[in-house]
Amino acid sequence: MDFSFTEEQELFRKSVREFCGKKLATHAREIDEKGEIPSAVLEDMADFGLLGITISGEYGGRGADFTTAAIGAEEIARADISMATAVYYLVEAGWGFIMDKYGSRNAKEEILPDVTKGKTFLGIASTEASGGSDIASISTTMEKKNGKFVLNGSKTYISGVREAANQGGGYVTIVKTAHGPGHKGLSFCYVPVKDTPGITTGVIRQMGREGMSNGTIIMNNAEIPEHYLIGELNKGFYYAMEGFNCARTLVSAACIGAAEKVLETGIKYIKAREVFGSPLAKFEGIQFQLAEDYIKLESARLLVHKAAWMLDEKNGSLHEINKAVAAAKLIAPTTAFEIIRDVMTWHGAYGYSKEAGLERGLRGVTSYIVGAEGAQNIMKIIIGRELLGKEFAPY
Ligand SMILES: Cc1cc2nc3c(=O)[nH]c(=O)nc-3n(C[C@H](O)[C@H](O)[C@H](O)COP(=O)(O)OP(=O)(O)OC[C@H]3O[C@@H](n4cnc5c(N)ncnc54)[C@H](O)[C@@H]3O)c2cc1C
Repeated sequence: MDFSFTEEQELFRKSVREFCGKKLATHAREIDEKGEIPSAVLEDMADFGLLGITISGEYGGRGADFTTAAIGAEEIARADISMATAVYYLVEAGWGFIMDKYGSRNAKEEILPDVTKGKTFLGIASTEASGGSDIASISTTMEKKNGKFVLNGSKTYISGVREAANQGGGYVTIVKTAHGPGHKGLSFCYVPVKDTPGITTGVIRQMGREGMSNGTIIMNNAEIPEHYLIGELNKGFYYAMEGFNCARTLVSAACIGAAEKVLETGIKYIKAREVFGSPLAKFEGIQFQLAEDYIKLESARLLVHKAAWMLDEKNGSLHEINKAVAAAKLIAPTTAFEIIRDVMTWHGAYGYSKEAGLERGLRGVTSYIVGAEGAQNIMKIIIGRELLGKEFAPY
């Protein structure tokens, strides 16, 4: 057994940390307060090779594996604990990988180079008002008419709608293409948002990760060319599940990065802050909490790195990978939330202030507890299903 990263991965971490320290951390407060990631930050990230990092070199990406992509997510979230920049990074890495793996050559040549250059945004549009957890219940349709695909329906709580509408870009989108039970009639396609007749977007303000928009996409007889179909017709559910495994691993890595950074901040603070004549760090009530937080963080980190490694090495059956990813996604956001809450408490009133900035992290990681990239109970259902067999799935 070998718990170490490769030399390239260590170098990558070091260089991304330096890059994020200079080019991202300095903007973290502004990103949250102004509600957008400055275009200069995205340009710098693109130049550094952080956008669409898993996309292959022929389309401008690094063709990074998921362990490397996870290192990137950790480092970005260390620098911007609000998760806004991490979300921008990880949806492109997770779903760009799926587009690259299953998209048509024409579509990839048209779309992916602009994503990796940071000119356009690429996201995932799966959730509908009927409930994001039950993907098989979606009702957005895609029908073939006069050599085009015509889309009707709406998606909601979609990250990056304002970015895609303003700067350009679109979504790997799951749609219904055949009648039939459950997941069997679903397909995956690319839907460009900007300048597509019949498509409108709307913003829904969120409690956190303010630098990245979220909202609705309405498709009313919107047409896309046939080559925007991703993979085979009616196989979309399987591509979606693969993409969720990729994106969930990166989400979990981002939570680890934010928690690690906040815990370091907490350690510095409790050593420096004196009350009752001693540094806070000397009191058992604080020190024991620190020890527990450390263990939680290390346990979560191991599960996240194991999930990334399993994705890269194809180590284990799909069932084992599903279980490992769901375990990582279940533990990492909750761990991050608990650590940020504890560190905030150690800071007393200062911890609650905007000045300390810890609340940005608390608001950001909460998105992954309530639902983004899959709700926590759904992770438990996946783990239960993989342990018990699909005949015990509660749906
Ligand atoms: C900040 C943010 C960003 C997002 N970005 C995107 C995006 O870019 N693209 C996208 O497609 N979606 C996005 N989503 C939506 C996300 O995928 C959904 O929130 C998620 O899938 C859950 O769906 P829902 O919110 O409709 O909750 P529901 O499916 O209605 O579930 C509500 C609650 O019930 C629980 N629950 C559901 N079913 C069961 C069950 N069988 N047993 C026990 N408990 C159950 C869930 O755990 C959850 O707590 C985002 C969400 C957030 C919060």
